Amino acid sequence: MDQPMLAADPHAEIREEVAKLCARFPGEYWRQVDRDRQYPTAFVQALTEGGWLGALIPEEHGGAGLPLSAAAAILEEIHRSGGNAGACHAQMYIMGTILKHGSADQKKRYLPKIASGELRLQAFGVTEPTSGTDTTALRTVAKREGDKYIVNGQKIWTSRAEHSDLMLLLARTTPRSEVAKKTDGLSTFIVDMKAALGKGLTIRPIRTMMNHNTTEVFFDSMEVPAENLVGQEGRGFRYILDGMNAERLLIASESIGDAKWFIRKAVDYSKDRVLFGRPIGQNQGVQFPIAKAYAQMRAAEALLKQGLAKFERGENCGEEANMGKMLAADAAWAAGEACIQTFGGFGFAEEYDVERKYREARLYQVAPISTNLVLSYIGEHVLGMPRSY
Ligand SMILES: Cc1cc2nc3c(=O)[nH]c(=O)nc-3n(C[C@H](O)[C@H](O)[C@H](O)COP(=O)(O)OP(=O)(O)OC[C@H]3O[C@@H](n4cnc5c(N)ncnc54)[C@H](O)[C@@H]3O)c2cc1C
Repeated sequence: MDQPMLAADPHAEIREEVAKLCARFPGEYWRQVDRDRQYPTAFVQALTEGGWLGALIPEEHGGAGLPLSAAAAILEEIHRSGGNAGACHAQMYIMGTILKHGSADQKKRYLPKIASGELRLQAFGVTEPTSGTDTTALRTVAKREGDKYIVNGQKIWTSRAEHSDLMLLLARTTPRSEVAKKTDGLSTFIVDMKAALGKGLTIRPIRTMMNHNTTEVFFDSMEVPAENLVGQEGRGFRYILDGMNAERLLIASESIGDAKWFIRKAVDYSKDRVLFGRPIGQNQGVQFPIAKAYAQMRAAEALLKQGLAKFERGENCGEEANMGKMLAADAAWAAGEACIQTFGGFGFAEEYDVERKYREARLYQVAPISTNLVLSYIGEHVLGMPRSY
């Protein structure tokens, strides 16, 4: 089951190269950064040096100019190898906002440095503690004063903020009461976090059940040069929405990688562990949950491939991106359940990596969008049922 579609896979070479790189960062490495809640700097550095994080940046801006399916293959491979791309995946989908909506000057200023690794664009400031999923109710305000904006407010779950040079920030520039549609009046900014730190920007880490380097971020009259506004003022929500299908397809790829890792581990262990005179995998009670998770993973993978193909053809892939993300996260969770159960007590011991991957895989039922919100997207936008919120 290692690579079921390898022969037809246009990214087989990329997978092979990324797998080689990942082999330099085995379970011990991930266990140690997890235990100490460290940022996997060496791994991110190696990925950057290999050019993998600049995969989607066009060649004219110093990147590899690869399609989204190539980025999906890179992230899937990292997870299939037992690692975690949460430390750096955002760069791939945030960059698209600058590429699509940024000015010529912004592209020239930032994209080549992001591609070379000189600058990290890893922080994405959207979620806030009070508004949560109800993004247009966010309270962070950016007020124009001459040639700069003054930002006040707070974000939560801003992952990698301590390890990023730049943040893509969504803030309200016109009060909700003064716009025709609640999605209007929001704007997107590129924040130079290193320059703003201590000058209106405060970052506080949040310790979570897995190592995700996430934080809360406070803005107290933080200044952002007006030239760092992306696109037009007031249209930022659309720009962020634009990138969300790409984000969901990429996160789904990570979940597919997780599912493959869990299934491989569970299959191998079930064949090796002998009890009552036979391998435990001979018992259908052990075999069937693994087989079922495999079937779920393959179905999600097929849908994901359709979504990636539609995205690359420039078609609306909202249905596939949302369903693919939900089904891939479900498949990873089913595979994680089967794996930890197959390992019995050993599944809970750090040294097998199962408990770490189990904790990590759970996140994708909630972030970047929770399962309920995917279901309401399907109900409303795919099935034409009444809007629920
Ligand atoms: C580790 C981690 C990293 C993250 N990284 C980032 C990041 O880098 N940048 C960023 O901006 N955000 C980030 N997030 C935020 C993430 O996108 C949100 O947690 C997620 O979108 C859910 O929002 P919430 O936590 O505010 O939950 P809420 O919106 O408070 O929702 C709580 C629960 O209620 C349910 N719910 C809410 N409304 C409805 C409804 N109308 N119908 C049915 N059910 C509903 C939701 O499905 C959810 O289960 C991260 C989160 C975590 C945990």
